[in-house]
Amino acid sequence: MNWQEYQEAVGILYEQMAEFGVVSKNITIPDKVTGQPRQIDVWWEMRLENHTFKILIDAKKRKDKIDVKDVEEIIMLAQAVKADKAIIVTNNEWTKPAELSAKFNGLDLRIFTIDEATDLIVDDKWVMCQVCNDDCVILDSNGFFEVNGLINWWLGGKCRSCKSIYIHCQDCGDRGIINSEIDWKCNCPYLWKSENENICVYQYNEDDTGEINFDNPMQLKIDFNE
Ligand SMILES: [Zn+2]
Ligand SMILES: [Zn+2]
Repeated sequence: MNWQEYQEAVGILYEQMAEFGVVSKNITIPDKVTGQPRQIDVWWEMRLENHTFKILIDAKKRKDKIDVKDVEEIIMLAQAVKADKAIIVTNNEWTKPAELSAKFNGLDLRIFTIDEATDLIVDDKWVMCQVCNDDCVILDSNGFFEVNGLINWWLGGKCRSCKSIYIHCQDCGDRGIINSEIDWKCNCPYLWKSENENICVYQYNEDDTGEINFDNPMQLKIDFNE
């Protein structure tokens, strides 16, 4: 999931939460000193008696923890656009100094995971990807193949970011993950491989010596890129 999508998901989250007031996403507000436009991820305005209460919400999709510098930066931004309150929404944790600074300055820190964010913006989400932990898997494929007159049915989906492919073999009920580095053997057993992001299934044979080989492969190619 890229940052723009995370920002969009945070906007939708606040649109859903805001029972009163108006939520705007990805806008600019002039800096009170310089007049230059400042980019705002989410802006929530509500009227309270004679005052309009303005909340600045900043989306931070991070691999590392939010640091005190991030908090200070948003406090400055909130002042520059005359927000009454600031909130940082992040997928990750924050450092202790960041927490202390946030508390002291009345800024809220909130966790909004990639799992939650993809729930909001990805319609055909299947599961979170355990390989990259950065995106979800789209259930976008299924198929049949025939072995010795028996039909096997499977479901498949691909991670939006790392392109790992998730397989649910309906014959044995087994689930597995394949990508350019990982092959997987289901309980049937078939060998599942990702070759140029296509699914290939191989019949799993034992020869006379008892050694397992994958000669005489039965191949099934599915193009996920269409
Ligand atoms: Zn992934
Ligand atoms: Zn199977």
